[in-house]
Amino acid sequence: MNTATSEKLFEKAQTHLPGGVDSPVRAFKSVEGTPRFIVRAKGQYIYDADGNCLLDYVGTWGPAILGHANPHVLTALHEAMKNGLSFGAPTPKEIELAELVKERVPSVELIRFVNSGTEATMSAVRVARGFTGKDKIIKFDGNYHGHADYLLTKAGSGAATCGVPDSAGVPASFTEHTVIAEYNNLESVETVLKEHKDQMAAIIVEPIMGNMGCITPQDGFLQGLRKLCDEHKVVLIFDEVMTGFRVHKNCAQGLYGVVPDLTCFGKIIGGGLPVGAYGGKKEIMEMVAPLGPVYQAGTLSGNPLAMAVGCKTLELLTDDAYNKLDQNTKALTTGMAEIAKRHNIALQVTQVGSMFGFFFSDQPVKNAEEARQIDTQKFKQLFHYFLDNNINLAPSPFEAGFMSLTHSQEDIQKTLEIFEEFLQK
Ligand code: PLP
Repeated sequence: MNTATSEKLFEKAQTHLPGGVDSPVRAFKSVEGTPRFIVRAKGQYIYDADGNCLLDYVGTWGPAILGHANPHVLTALHEAMKNGLSFGAPTPKEIELAELVKERVPSVELIRFVNSGTEATMSAVRVARGFTGKDKIIKFDGNYHGHADYLLTKAGSGAATCGVPDSAGVPASFTEHTVIAEYNNLESVETVLKEHKDQMAAIIVEPIMGNMGCITPQDGFLQGLRKLCDEHKVVLIFDEVMTGFRVHKNCAQGLYGVVPDLTCFGKIIGGGLPVGAYGGKKEIMEMVAPLGPVYQAGTLSGNPLAMAVGCKTLELLTDDAYNKLDQNTKALTTGMAEIAKRHNIALQVTQVGSMFGFFFSDQPVKNAEEARQIDTQKFKQLFHYFLDNNINLAPSPFEAGFMSLTHSQEDIQKTLEIFEEFLQK
């Protein structure tokens, strides 16, 4: 396969951008090789600068649930563009998108639109702190909530240790209020709550972990968090930036029947344009300026183009759409599991709606520590085998995969055939 143009572009990009990219995982560090430079995307395909067409399971890291460049979404965008790009003033489309979100996510009584998932989580934590008058938060090892200083930390050794920054440039004091617990382990949460009695403002959690591969909540885990938050007067924040409108029409909270106090959104609600949002209980969201004392603002927040694209994307996500997404994704993951079994390869697959993951491991993976034990070499080989056969996975064993509405049964069949070929090698 010819990749000469991508190679040249990557070399050039490195003279202008740190590592040649604007977001680290795109640089292929964990799988090695040269990232493809993408010039076009349509439906289930992305096209690189050398003219290769790749079947895409990344979907711009989640937003492209309808498939790339959906014609109805493009029309909505073109219509909105005719009226201007940004007004820095309230617009009717913000109300429309707020209504669409609230209809499907009843825990959201008031919502604020921002420009990224990072802004959403950062702001939600600020609101929780403002509301409770407490400083500390619990985050789970392996959960990613964007790159705000105090959220860039995972567990040191074992569960329930105080946060140590993962990134240079984050003063240790900035993460001192972030306490790490183990995902799927309610005891670790209880321990932390007892240790920091009356100091905890919030628990922030990815209801389905999507940033350490795809790890699902065990029965009772999210319900247990809700109970503990009620007992300790802690704000429960679901970070649904990835899972929101991805795993279910009513998001992960609808699927599991757990009502958080605040929810963070991103990705799909912008349909591919830069959007985030946070919302939740009225009495908590009333803390946000101008109603309340918690300041948060944005020049481009509620941008009319992003709102138009978000509205059209949600409108097109019907029950039928979710059924199709679920069936196709299940066909892929169960197919992979069957093939692996036939070839005596230890593989764990997970699937929730159109979000999926797989681990080369003989044990089910319940948390980040277990995910770190998997065979990452095997993933790396598979990643390149797929790419050489025009299939695009996220370039890391610790990312989720995403199906779109445009993926067909033939696409899934082809993917399974290539997977079997890989295992037979
Ligand atoms: N929260 C979760 C669960 C995410 O997966 C991400 C990004 O992947 C973020 C927050 C940050 O969102 P953004 O990259 O839009 O800042």
